[in-house]
Amino acid sequence: MIRHVKVMQAKARLCRVEKIGGAVDQYAVRSPTGKMYAVTEMVYRGSDFEAVCTCDWSQYHPDRMCSHKMAALEFKLGRRVSFWRTLGDAMRQHRKRLSTQDVWATVR
Ligand SMILES: [Zn+2]
Repeated sequence: MIRHVKVMQAKARLCRVEKIGGAVDQYAVRSPTGKMYAVTEMVYRGSDFEAVCTCDWSQYHPDRMCSHKMAALEFKLGRRVSFWRTLGDAMRQHRKRLSTQDVWATVR
């Protein structure tokens, strides 16, 4: 499957995010269509940011980023985050870099 990371990034920027209280990092993400999803950060795995999301796509692709996870990460950092398909693409940005499951992120 070809994934259009910049399309996902654009969708992520249309989401509205709120922090949900509690011991874990959990976010309520409202998509542009009005649907609500919960994004919960996982801390004991391999990437700088990994999360689970309640959206349909994530049920079948738990190890991949979705636009809701992207929105939650940008909210968490409070900075503009850009996502890239390859490490090379991310390195060319010369910005702080994070591994985020199957894509790379750079932070302004
Ligand atoms: Zn999702």
